[in-house]
Amino acid sequence: MAIRLGNSCENCENLMTNNTCKVHGVKVSSSYTCDSFEMKAVLKDDRNCVTCLRYETNECANPQKAAPGMLCSQWAPQNAMA
Ligand code: SF4
Ligand code: SF4
Repeated sequence: MAIRLGNSCENCENLMTNNTCKVHGVKVSSSYTCDSFEMKAVLKDDRNCVTCLRYETNECANPQKAAPGMLCSQWAPQNAMA
């Protein structure tokens, strides 16, 4: 089975605000996924320094330029690592 970083409840259209899945009616977390996964259309807009795992850490590739709304090729998703 393929392992995919992008397919998790965190970026699924069916995740409601209280971390409950609209399809299954149970609490889920960012490390879950299922066959009903539907990619949120806005995911691309979330890619910037604020959502980067490396933001304000020693891992940041561009600490002088990192800021909300900025992005570089070293961006890594915060939530996939939770
Ligand atoms: S359990 Fe499935 S349908 Fe529900 S939020 Fe997670 S990926 Fe989406
Ligand atoms: S996107 Fe690049 S510059 Fe921004 S926090 Fe991540 S590593 Fe740093």
